[in-house]
Amino acid sequence: MRFLVVDDSSTMRRIIINTLNKLGHQDVLEAGNGREGIERLSNVGSVDLIITDWNMPEMSGIDFIRTLRAMDNHKNLPVLMVTTNAAKDDIVQAMEAGVNHYIVKPFTPDTFKDKIQAAMTK
Ligand SMILES: [Mg+2]
Repeated sequence: MRFLVVDDSSTMRRIIINTLNKLGHQDVLEAGNGREGIERLSNVGSVDLIITDWNMPEMSGIDFIRTLRAMDNHKNLPVLMVTTNAAKDDIVQAMEAGVNHYIVKPFTPDTFKDKIQAAMTK
């Protein structure tokens, strides 16, 4: 399985990638914002799961997901959003944009693992 991790914090990307590696996934691409994420996807064709932050410069996670959902080949691509935005309105907004799974930072490795597994089996 190939993953794309999109976050403007390199520390956060490292944490997520380390967790994926520990789960046995080595094929992980990264991007620093939504625009870069779109570029990565067009370079590789597609991935199996996107893990994206919300708050990022240039293109936010929400705009990234809206852009993906408007593209024929990425309409149904599973997306897990990892964010500090914990308000109910934010979660509703993210789901309306097309997020499949949502996790609030900070998270424990176990919670993250569960979310990844849930996101992959759907
Ligand atoms: Mg951020």
